Amino acid sequence: MGKTDIRVGFGYDSHEFKPGVPLRIGGMTLEHPEGLAGHSDGDVLLHAVTDALLGSVAAGDIGSFFPPGDPRWKDADSAIFINLALEELKNAGYQIVNIDTTLVLAAPKIFPVAGEMRARLADLLGIEIDQVSIKAKTPEGMNLDHVAQCHAIALVERVAEPDELKSMSAAIETERQLEDVVEGLLTSVHGVPKKRTINPVYDTEDIT
Ligand SMILES: [Zn+2]
Repeated sequence: MGKTDIRVGFGYDSHEFKPGVPLRIGGMTLEHPEGLAGHSDGDVLLHAVTDALLGSVAAGDIGSFFPPGDPRWKDADSAIFINLALEELKNAGYQIVNIDTTLVLAAPKIFPVAGEMRARLADLLGIEIDQVSIKAKTPEGMNLDHVAQCHAIALVERVAEPDELKSMSAAIETERQLEDVVEGLLTSVHGVPKKRTINPVYDTEDIT
């Protein structure tokens, strides 16, 4: 990861409003007649923050870990994606300095819940509330009232030497390795046991 002590990452996401689904933004369910369409829970803010974090350590993007269409993360809680990004950040030897976000949506008003949303996001990221900023504006002049967008930026600082072997994005060379990462993340969020166990090629205890 070079010799730099601080790095920056940017993330962007958008989802279309759709009737009949709950509106999930920032890990919260908001009162609104429509939610955001997506393969997962459509949490536009958590997806943008995930990409900002992955981008800060050049670990790919949300789509490289979770290609759309896999039934396992249909309606998935987007905390899964945040957990993946935090793991990648840790493995690269970095921690979050601060996160800044701008939501762009016509409705509902974010201001009344922004404080609670900041606290929720800080909690998900394991950082203090003053390290998290959530701003919101309406999509003036863009004819995009049916869409929610989010921009996010993350500043991170080095806290340890990177462990190349632990970087999941570097380690994923096969479909099966990607499956293992995804299974592990699903387990971490939903608390369900892994569907299958992977036997290592050799038992490290036997090497003497
Ligand atoms: Zn998304």
